[in-house]
Amino acid sequence: MAYSYDDQNIFAKILRGEIPNSTVLETEHTLAFRDIAPQAPEHVLVIPKGAYVNYDHFANEASDAEIIDYTRAIGKICKMLGVEPGEGGNGYRLLANAGNDAIQDVFHLHVHICAGRNLGPMLK
Ligand code: C5P
Repeated sequence: MAYSYDDQNIFAKILRGEIPNSTVLETEHTLAFRDIAPQAPEHVLVIPKGAYVNYDHFANEASDAEIIDYTRAIGKICKMLGVEPGEGGNGYRLLANAGNDAIQDVFHLHVHICAGRNLGPMLK
């Protein structure tokens, strides 16, 4: 499948440093920053530095190194936020919207990490 990536999307601009962000973690292949309109006391967006529209694009075309870096970054952030349920935290939700039915707003893959309150059954 051919994925079409628009390099004018807002997260591409953040990655190029054209728009400021509140960085939580940066690794070789991943950037994580606080959501500008948080829906929970902790609301962090995790994006790969590569140009991937959504999760299936990333899963199908990213290198193993990118996928490992991204997956581990999410785990590191949960640890930094102190929300890991097995480690004394109260839990978190990971969410990645893709396409129209999920009401994806920004077409660069981002996983939302939300925590810090009872999140209810759905986020959007
Ligand atoms: O999953 P969806 O594509 O709807 O999520 C986009 C998210 O990006 C929203 O939660 C929005 O608040 C966030 N955002 C941001 N900084 C921007 C633009 C959007 O954190 N400059």
